[in-house]
Amino acid sequence: MKVTLENLTKVFPSRNKKKKADVTAVKDFTFEIPDGKLVGLLGPSGCGKSTTLYMISGLEKPTSGKIFFGDTDVTDTPPEKRGIGLVFQNYALYPHLTVEENIMFPLQNLKGKDKLSREQMAAKVADAARLVAIEELTDRKPSELSGGQQQRVAIARALVKTPQVLLLDEPLSNLDARLRLQTREEIRRIQKETGITTIFVTHDQEEAMSISDIIVVMREGVVQQTGAPQEIYDKPKNLFVAKFLGTPPINVFNGRVSGGALTFGDDVLFNVDGVSDGEYYVGIRPEGFILSESGAFRASLRAVSVMGRDITVVSSHTAMTGSEVRSIVNSEHISRVGEDTVRFDVNPKKVYIFDKNTEMTVPFETKGGAK
Ligand code: ADP
Ligand code: MG
Repeated sequence: MKVTLENLTKVFPSRNKKKKADVTAVKDFTFEIPDGKLVGLLGPSGCGKSTTLYMISGLEKPTSGKIFFGDTDVTDTPPEKRGIGLVFQNYALYPHLTVEENIMFPLQNLKGKDKLSREQMAAKVADAARLVAIEELTDRKPSELSGGQQQRVAIARALVKTPQVLLLDEPLSNLDARLRLQTREEIRRIQKETGITTIFVTHDQEEAMSISDIIVVMREGVVQQTGAPQEIYDKPKNLFVAKFLGTPPINVFNGRVSGGALTFGDDVLFNVDGVSDGEYYVGIRPEGFILSESGAFRASLRAVSVMGRDITVVSSHTAMTGSEVRSIVNSEHISRVGEDTVRFDVNPKKVYIFDKNTEMTVPFETKGGAK
């Protein structure tokens, strides 16, 4: 089911009656979620992800704008009539019911022509339990399950009515690191297997990158960029998106373009075309540094940590906006690290120039220069 959001806006009235500062949780969100895709809604805490999800589910009413499921306007349709499955961070299982009863719960409220027999319900529960690989656990109570297993039960419960749209709000946040990894792969598998259009909310960029067909990056209620994970990583539209995606994060410098050359302090990196002279923020991805004894980028060495194939070089540079420069380089080049200094060539493909006022990406071209 295709889901279309049209100028979706949610304003919460101020809780403080004296200071009338309303909160615009979501502002003018327009987007089409293609049928059968998994969309990762990504952004820092408080940026409006849950509010967006709750509007899609019908739990929150938009202040303005519209929501369509397929060609049907569902903006005023109550949640139970939208054909959605919802999964929250905290599982929200009924503690006194068994796993089977928990999964069956949404089916028991079906009325009229939708009403199911006990056998039909049991068959659907068995299917959902199989899908999330908990068929052995259906007699247990939630307290007898691990966090990961409880979340699988919650997912099975969301799937049992075969929803048209599956909505997941930070479903992995309560799990430990290993389970988080495993469960996100499971969610991806289930989504592919069922083909259900899915919206997955997370503040974890790595999680969003690994699981999504499309990522929507939000900040303070406003969509910053939408696209395939790799595309957003490679072509961030602004400094915020560039900084939000990638581990270790992008290194941001106070750079300058003068006479067509990109420079950091005394270091002249390479020539850039199409950028007017001036001061800029310049981002370099950690993998954009290449150890080289004659490299134009000269930094003070702080630490080297070897992680098998790659090494992380931590250095400092006067033009750096943060405390240290993090680069990830090939371990075969380790001999090029000097005693107190380290020099790099910089791959222009991993370099981004941002306007200092708008923080928007400034496109540029390179001729020759470091490569
Ligand atoms: P996220 O899920 O991205 O962390 P939310 O959608 O929960 O963000 O919240 C977005 C903004 O809206 C926040 O500033 C939050 O404080 C505010 N907000 C959320 N729900 C309410 C509410 N019921 N009443 C008032 N403000 C709210
Ligand atoms: Mg939230």
